[in-house]
Amino acid sequence: MNAPHETDVLVVGAGPSGVAAALMAASLNLRTAVVEAASVGGKLHAIGALENVSGNWTTGPQLAEALASDLDRLQQAGRCSVIRARAVSVTGYDDRADLVLDDGRVLSAQVVVVATGVSTMAPPEADWISAPEQPSVPLLWRTGPADLTDRTYVLGADRPLGTWLRTHPHSPTTLHVLCPPADDYKISEVSGDERVRVVPVSQVALSPAPDGDGWSLLVKDRQGERTSYVSTTVLSNLGSKPAALDGLALSEDGYCPPGKQHPRIRTAGDLRAAQFQRIATGQGSGAEAVLAAYYATVPSGSVHVTGP
Ligand SMILES: Cc1cc2nc3c(=O)[nH]c(=O)nc-3n(C[C@H](O)[C@H](O)[C@H](O)COP(=O)(O)OP(=O)(O)OC[C@H]3O[C@@H](n4cnc5c(N)ncnc54)[C@H](O)[C@@H]3O)c2cc1C
Repeated sequence: MNAPHETDVLVVGAGPSGVAAALMAASLNLRTAVVEAASVGGKLHAIGALENVSGNWTTGPQLAEALASDLDRLQQAGRCSVIRARAVSVTGYDDRADLVLDDGRVLSAQVVVVATGVSTMAPPEADWISAPEQPSVPLLWRTGPADLTDRTYVLGADRPLGTWLRTHPHSPTTLHVLCPPADDYKISEVSGDERVRVVPVSQVALSPAPDGDGWSLLVKDRQGERTSYVSTTVLSNLGSKPAALDGLALSEDGYCPPGKQHPRIRTAGDLRAAQFQRIATGQGSGAEAVLAAYYATVPSGSVHVTGP
């Protein structure tokens, strides 16, 4: 983008929350631009079976396609533009907020809504797991029933487990889910499924099996008892860490609550907190971020593009 791009609201991330923010901004007649590094829809592309969202969507990609059409319509009507780029940092000032992109461009606007979601956590990043630095442990949600073996261990009980079970209702394999205390509130949502065997743990040490085929798991339970298992199939379902931009204010767990940010910077969706990471709450928070900015300021401003 070489010419100055005029807008009032810059939205970073075109997942469900970012698109809801853009729809709300456009409906308020605010000049709007969305910065997206990958594809419109964000995590929706990973959801094989969907049931808790308004509308007749049965899969995440269907909803992602609908969101992409919404943005297309806004673009064609000249009410929003989509910038394909990765944002790096955001800074709030008295009169504007600046967003720096990874190609060096700087965009300024009245308000920046950051809805960059979360990225997947790897085993060495979980405080209850010790593991080699780069273990090749596949993600549960990218694995199909054909990839499972009789003794399949799942590291963590994050919500994609429920989605996986709904996506593959006929998979007969038992999933041995190693569940740390922090995941107890999530495992209760799926523990009624007879294909789930919950293994409450406090610590797990993961190392390559001595014969080179699969993994050894040394599991410490909640009472301190240790048991070891060997398995060819260990899958990761550890949840995520916030995809925070530099310049955002973080809480202790690394998330970016809206109330902590500069008045010209709003956060929305999964980025806000470890809890409430659902599509509908993300959409609500995206729309709310724009409404809050709208009622706080009389929007009049522009985005100026500088840099290479
Ligand atoms: C496997 C799986 C199953 C799920 N199942 C369900 C379910 O059944 N029901 C439900 O309600 N929820 C489900 N969820 C959660 C749901 O997908 C999220 O709550 C929702 O997508 C969050 O929306 P978001 O817009 O906050 O973030 P995301 O959907 O993660 O979108 C963030 C967007 O920001 C972009 N982005 C990130 N960083 C940058 C950057 N620096 N610059 C520019 N763009 C950037 C990303 O490319 C992405 O498009 C599931 C999640 C997973 C992973």
